Amino acid sequence: MLQSKAFGTSVQVKGWVRTRRGNKKVGFIALNDGSTIKNVQIVVNMEDLGEESLKPITTGACICVNGVLTESPGQGQDAEIQAREIHLYGAADPLTYPLQKKGHSLEFLREIAHLRPRTNTFGAVFRIRHHMAIAIHRFFHERGFYYFHTPIITTSDCEGAGQMFQVTTLNLYDLKKDKSGSIDYADDFFGRQAGLTVSGQLEGELAAMALGAIYTFGPTFRAENSNTPRHLAEFWMVEPEVAFNEIEDNMQLAEDFIKYCLRCALDNCRDDIEFLNNMFDKELLGRLNFVLEQDFIRLTYTEGIRILEEAVAGGHTFEFPVFWGSDLAAEHERYLVEDHFKCPVILTDYPKEIKSFYMKQNDDGKTVRAMDVLFPKIGEIIGGSQREEDYAKLSERAQEMDVPLKDIWWYLDTRRFGTAPHSGFGLGFERLLLFVTGMTNIRDVIPFPRAPHNAEF
Ligand code: ATP
Ligand code: MN
Repeated sequence: MLQSKAFGTSVQVKGWVRTRRGNKKVGFIALNDGSTIKNVQIVVNMEDLGEESLKPITTGACICVNGVLTESPGQGQDAEIQAREIHLYGAADPLTYPLQKKGHSLEFLREIAHLRPRTNTFGAVFRIRHHMAIAIHRFFHERGFYYFHTPIITTSDCEGAGQMFQVTTLNLYDLKKDKSGSIDYADDFFGRQAGLTVSGQLEGELAAMALGAIYTFGPTFRAENSNTPRHLAEFWMVEPEVAFNEIEDNMQLAEDFIKYCLRCALDNCRDDIEFLNNMFDKELLGRLNFVLEQDFIRLTYTEGIRILEEAVAGGHTFEFPVFWGSDLAAEHERYLVEDHFKCPVILTDYPKEIKSFYMKQNDDGKTVRAMDVLFPKIGEIIGGSQREEDYAKLSERAQEMDVPLKDIWWYLDTRRFGTAPHSGFGLGFERLLLFVTGMTNIRDVIPFPRAPHNAEF
């Protein structure tokens, strides 16, 4: 409709009123149906329709307009609609409808998450979210990966205890405990302790050892009590897993994958990204184009630590200490990306102590073949590794890290039967969206964010 040049034809539009202005003779309604950031302008001849009938057509009201498409003399649009008839589906009382004036803060909008998709900003964000989800499926499908569904309810917590939300049908008001005071899960639904998945990787590996190249894309849950702008309790993760890929292939896949998504965003979401660029972050478009043109820098954790130590020696201060063996905090990751290299960085070969038991061990006995992709403004956007395919090394490392072998016997079986080198990674979908939209709080790129003490809608 907005692009149509079929002036003179009858049209019908349905949508929500963004604004209404005008005088006693002529009224202008900016109407939006959610399909794009652009509104269509409805022109109302007050004498034809009567001033009274327009009264309830205020910001937020939902209407259906029958009219004639005409060339617009006004600026900002080619076509407008001369209204013949307006039907009101639902009014929105100006005294109580919360989305009145422009320029509500993002914090305020989070409190009305049920209505915020109706704002320009969140319309743009959620349209981009859709296009990025499609891009992800297209990228993998075009490369011959199979979309594999891993379970949401699981009894294995591969990333370590403490982060899992428990799933139970036990009566919490009347918990049976044994003599030592522990809960008896025999009566629970699964006959054992169960929780919501923190990652689909272990099951993804099983699939890669059969279908070759797979990816998962689904909700992931972490009960980490970190109230940060980069963590959610419920987020979506994309996890490709590929048989015969070594860490170098894994890095290339990650880089190609992110760039493919960014290109899709620029190709399909131009209006929305331009809006966000002008509204919140004047460097957004520049940053997206910049990253597309760069080869990601690849360096080892050890080299990264050296750079950070030199920065400290040169007078730079970090909140958290830097030394070989320390886990990198977001401030360290961002220093490397934003201050030192000014380019996305893939950091590899981390100390084995700070990484998971399943990562392939290097010959130095100290490091594992982990890779984190670090992005400007975000920090870690991808975490991945080459997996340990050797049964003995894997089970030994699991024991060292207190992962009970009896819980992961099925995972270990892949290393007993037809094992092969393989690699994969996890991309946090919302972290990608932070980068693509330029939003700074992860709660603003998912429709209904779940975070500590936050699950209203
Ligand atoms: P971080 O160090 O940032 O907490 P992590 O190392 O715990 O992340 P991984 O276990 O490597 O994360 O998960 C893979 C990816 O999933 C991360 O690179 C990140 O993009 C995303 N991710 C992890 N935790 C969260 C979360 N709580 N909310 C949103 N995205 C997350
Ligand atoms: Mn990680």
